[in-house]
Amino acid sequence: MINWNDIDVKGKTKGTKKTTCPSCSHDRNKKTDPCLSVDIDNGVAFCHHCSDYSIKESEQKESPYILPKQDWSNYTSLSDAMVKWLEDRRISQLTAIELKITEELHYIPQANKEQNCIVFNYFEGQTVVAKKYRSGAKHFAKSKDSKSIFYNINSIIGQETAYIVEGEMDVLAMHELGIKNVISVPNGANDNDNQWIESQRYLKGVKRFIIATDNDTKGIELREKISHRLGKYRCEFIEFKGKDANDDLISGELEQSIKQAKKFPVGGTYTSNDLMDGIMDLYRNGLPKTLTIENKSFGTDFNKVFSPMLGQVTTITGIPSGGKSNFNDWYVINLINEYKLKGSWFSPEHSPMELYQTNLIEKVTGRNFYEKQGGKRITEEGILEYNEWAKDKIYLTDCEDGEAPTWTWLMDKFKEQLYSYGINIFVIDAFNKVILPSGNKLDAINDVMTKLTHFAQSNNVAVFLVAHPTKMRKDEKTGLYDIPTLYDVSGSADFRNQTHNGYTIHRMYGGQDKAGIEIEQCTLFINTKTKYNFQGQIGNR
Ligand SMILES: [Zn+2]
Repeated sequence: MINWNDIDVKGKTKGTKKTTCPSCSHDRNKKTDPCLSVDIDNGVAFCHHCSDYSIKESEQKESPYILPKQDWSNYTSLSDAMVKWLEDRRISQLTAIELKITEELHYIPQANKEQNCIVFNYFEGQTVVAKKYRSGAKHFAKSKDSKSIFYNINSIIGQETAYIVEGEMDVLAMHELGIKNVISVPNGANDNDNQWIESQRYLKGVKRFIIATDNDTKGIELREKISHRLGKYRCEFIEFKGKDANDDLISGELEQSIKQAKKFPVGGTYTSNDLMDGIMDLYRNGLPKTLTIENKSFGTDFNKVFSPMLGQVTTITGIPSGGKSNFNDWYVINLINEYKLKGSWFSPEHSPMELYQTNLIEKVTGRNFYEKQGGKRITEEGILEYNEWAKDKIYLTDCEDGEAPTWTWLMDKFKEQLYSYGINIFVIDAFNKVILPSGNKLDAINDVMTKLTHFAQSNNVAVFLVAHPTKMRKDEKTGLYDIPTLYDVSGSADFRNQTHNGYTIHRMYGGQDKAGIEIEQCTLFINTKTKYNFQGQIGNR
């Protein structure tokens, strides 16, 4: 590994730089050939001539992780039994040596004793940052409080393509076949945010991902989650004949399986043949699933009135203090809960963040946060329970350094969160709190709406955009305000034209209508637009 400090980036402090390689340039005929690509921002470098690489040490002073004992380098040989075990799985000794597989007696909780284990050493550069132990009976243990990072992460530094598999044995199987740019998720089908955040600097340079998770329900779910974070447009996937890469290696079918990598259906141009899987699915299973709500508090007909879909933008309007934000928060929380999704809020009107969380706590638990008349107050245990539920589902975004947010900043933030946390629903409350690009206002709104709808569609996420209406007309006779529609959203008709869906929340305070009929005090939900007929009817309430 190249020492980061030996790299000469000619004083550059940002972006990327091509320069000579401290490992090989002095031995080459072309001594000045800039064969080393340096990614200064992410602190990684890769030599296209000798394949050596460099990782800049993290500036973080205190590591939140515990490093396992660095004893792998003294390691010389595997036991005959271990070599035999690997051979049964068609893994050669050469692969075991190249991936620095070791063997140790380790305590296995399921067996409640020490057992002989194969050890997968998780290297980051030349440091073992985690160890995973696997016993003969396929029980696993992991080094305590170690870093959560993909297995074999060094292998993808400087690579255009990376394969992602579901277990360490699958990395070995792919490596055996000569595919060396392959990493594995560290916790099997259990996706977690940390592994993505810790591996980000290495994944950033990769252009194409081939996802090769297990051929079972959990593996397919994991494939969806991984492609969601990385962006489906740059992902392909492999469907194994057996359960996983190692199974197909044993049966001799791995090469064939890999050759048949498929693209995810997103964007671009398609023939009916490309779309056949989707067409047959519609024929057999009917119209696509919309996001319906089980919670009976929404009323029995709510799903007939309105149901959005992932991949769509929904614009919410209503007279100020009419309860639109409140309703939308409650609605989104129910979607998150019922579909096991993750939501991100950008709601600068509701700063500070702690205060806003108390608001969400009340909606999730149905209890009062503060002491007040009527209803029960949440207990401290209740708050901790909420945190257990919310900590990997609810994400709040604050403006940085008190600076006013621009749309470019917010869209970048969303892309970042999509990768780091796998967010499915983004809430923007409200449109006018984000600064429009300068110039013609109509053009700027058109541009933002185009970017938002494209972001939702290409990443299959739902965006809920709260937008205030222009000053609403008051009927002189009845004293009632007109109910705003998407055409009343201030600024542009593009809200109506570009959004996929819309709804209005309108509070009726009582009184009499034009015909003199008494109006009940209530809050109305009005569908103002749905993209497809099967999602509900405009005007329904
Ligand atoms: Zn080199």
